[in-house]
Amino acid sequence: DIFGKERKNSSGINIDIASQWTPFNTQVSRFMTKQWQGGAIINGEAPSTGRVIEIKCPYRLSSIVGHVTWTDEAGVETAIESAYSAFEQWYKTPVEARARYLEKMADLIEANTPELVALCHREAGKIIQDSIDEIREAVDFCRYYAHQARVHFATPLVMPGPTGESNELYFQGRGVFACISPWNFPLAIFIGQVAAALVAGNTVIAKPAEQTTLIASLAVNLLHEAGIPKDVVQLLAGEGSVVGNAITQDDRIAGVAFTGSTATALRINRNLAARSGAIAPLIAETGGQNAMIVDSTALPEQVIKDVVESAFKSAGQRCSALRVLYIQKDVAPRMIALLKGAMAELSLGDPSLHATDVGPVIDSNAKNMLLDHIENMRKNAMVIYETNMPASLKKEHFVAPIAFKIENMSQLEKEHFGPILHVITYEASELDQVIKQINDSGYGLTLGIHTRNETTARYIDSKVRVGNVYINRNQIGAAVGVQPFGGQGLSGTGPKAGGPRYLFRFATERTRTINT
Ligand code: GLU
Repeated sequence: DIFGKERKNSSGINIDIASQWTPFNTQVSRFMTKQWQGGAIINGEAPSTGRVIEIKCPYRLSSIVGHVTWTDEAGVETAIESAYSAFEQWYKTPVEARARYLEKMADLIEANTPELVALCHREAGKIIQDSIDEIREAVDFCRYYAHQARVHFATPLVMPGPTGESNELYFQGRGVFACISPWNFPLAIFIGQVAAALVAGNTVIAKPAEQTTLIASLAVNLLHEAGIPKDVVQLLAGEGSVVGNAITQDDRIAGVAFTGSTATALRINRNLAARSGAIAPLIAETGGQNAMIVDSTALPEQVIKDVVESAFKSAGQRCSALRVLYIQKDVAPRMIALLKGAMAELSLGDPSLHATDVGPVIDSNAKNMLLDHIENMRKNAMVIYETNMPASLKKEHFVAPIAFKIENMSQLEKEHFGPILHVITYEASELDQVIKQINDSGYGLTLGIHTRNETTARYIDSKVRVGNVYINRNQIGAAVGVQPFGGQGLSGTGPKAGGPRYLFRFATERTRTINT
């Protein structure tokens, strides 16, 4: 059991843990057949016009999770104009009050955990444990940013007054912040961005990924329930190429927080640059071509556990996920044998069963892109192992974990956002070339290093340009307030989500000088 869950009882008989409903599971199960209604929330109301889209469950396409109404042009205009006017009041709201709203939101998320878990699981296809972790992370973001706002925003910094004047430096909101979030962390990243923008003193136009609008709608209703004025947070729904594009071209937008693909981040950057409005910052957290380097001193069992988690947990749909594993040649045969064994143990399937390790990918588009890459790789590379896929899953959105042996990272023209691992072996003398390959990719998000040689760890760490380095552990699941997360280069602009300086970029600094 590679992810550390018990699947067998003391007699070695497989247990379907989901059939042993605990009270928590029972609460979650109440929402397993619910159909949600969602979409834009403009000044607290769901608009009555707009195209209605049916949301299907990624692991059971016959099951309808709910319906979402996409926002039309008039809706976008009303939302932006209302958020723009609301800023006048909101930025003057004391920091303490803004922090309390986030803490109230954290309490409400906790109180609604069963419904949020069920929705996350059914709309995004997450396995139950990933859904629980996701809700926890959203709560952590709210409480952490509330705390950071109190530390950095509540009291002005008193500057020296050598000329007899009194000088103060303090943070203020910028205006309307656009928060554009992905489907892979439909609650945590959505709330992380929105909470940061709000507590820093901005009003918000939130635009979640079209695949996971229902969970965002539920979250925005909770923000309003927490007391945040209805015009301060506006939710828009629809395609990025339409709604996202309209928002990021609008002169009233004072900044953008975006998590998603590198291509979209570049497009947003161009939109912002072409405007005649304020010069707006873009906070982008994008993809990665994340590598792990394993040398001959590494502990094989630990390596394999960390590789499998990093590459295949959440079906590889994390921007932190491992894509390219470098193994030193001397130990490669043993490591690869263990990797095959571990991949054979992975169970792919119904994410509502606690025994499932790997659930579906998000939609048919994602599945087709991954399958295209797999087909291409089959022609140009050797398959190391492919996890078995039960025939019943073929018609749903599943991709079986697969590992390929390749020669060089340059064979991968871009990030492949799913359970596909590429393995490269290297001689000890080629370490510098390995490092060069990683840096030459242009991405710089996560890096795993497995070695018991401290000098090697320090050497690699000093040379590879990435945002998050993980030594002798897996390279996913950055903890809020503990492992601030975010990359550089093609992987993003910083600042780091869940870090002590994240809020700064959402604000503007103001100096007040008084001649006393
Ligand atoms: N913060 C997540 C992690 O550390 C990844 C976030 C993302 O995929 O955007 O695994």
